[in-house]
Amino acid sequence: MKITVDLNRRRSLMRAHTATHLLHDQLQRFFPDTKQEWSWVGTDALRFDYRADRFLTTEEVDEIVATINACIIADYAVVVEEMSFDDAKKLWAKAFFADKYGDRVRVVRIDQTTSIELCGGTHVNHTGEIWAFLVTGQESVSAGVKRIHAVCGPAVAEYAQSLEHRLVSYARKLDLASWSQIDEKMTKMIIDMRQMTTQRETLFHALVALLAQTNPDVIYDGCYGYRLQGWWTLIPLKDLASILKNLSLAYPLCVWDETGSFVLVGTDIVSAKTLAQTWWVRGGWSDRCIQGKDQRIVALMTS
Ligand SMILES: [Zn+2]
Repeated sequence: MKITVDLNRRRSLMRAHTATHLLHDQLQRFFPDTKQEWSWVGTDALRFDYRADRFLTTEEVDEIVATINACIIADYAVVVEEMSFDDAKKLWAKAFFADKYGDRVRVVRIDQTTSIELCGGTHVNHTGEIWAFLVTGQESVSAGVKRIHAVCGPAVAEYAQSLEHRLVSYARKLDLASWSQIDEKMTKMIIDMRQMTTQRETLFHALVALLAQTNPDVIYDGCYGYRLQGWWTLIPLKDLASILKNLSLAYPLCVWDETGSFVLVGTDIVSAKTLAQTWWVRGGWSDRCIQGKDQRIVALMTS
């Protein structure tokens, strides 16, 4: 039993390794001067890092996947030969770590010329054994180095199935009968959300203008203070600040809540920064508007 499991594992590693060679070869179509930086071969999964200053486009990924799957269907022979380093060079082998090789090298060729690499790893005998190949993601690893994630063999079907499950669960969350309706629903939701954001902003502006006109709870040091309570707390302080600082105010204004969060807005004559410095309260500086959290503000405004 154990032997069978190990054999399955070994086969899946071989599939991923040969698929890595095919991917490396394909990448050079779009990045002729690229170099392999690092490569990880797992069970029916692989990661490949290469030098590039951009990601592959969706079309390029599709083309790579289609070509590799065509190679798999063509069932090319994978030939492993030992030869002298000079003979290998004549074959255009990609000797990335040439300095590490001795006189004799191991050359892995797929379909004679499709892919030629110096490699000590184990491979499938025919590309058909890989079954299938799929790119599952791209990411940036460091400056100038991109990583491709891919799966092969039965993992391709598992991956597709897991995506389907995820789409079905999204559809359920959105109360849809089928995931094919997700796209339409999302488009609608985005339009609704944008409308709501606009409405919310308009409402906030009206409310804040109203706040600035109502009688202050306290006047401290010439500054009108409003304690944020009741439905005013529906407006996040961040939004209050961004609206208040654009209003033309006749007097400096301070909005605070009992936790000490506050927004201090100055006028053309008295800057918010001056007030905050005079009161010894800490917050983010801008001459016009200061936002922060300081219990001292509560003490001042309720004194
Ligand atoms: Zn290899």
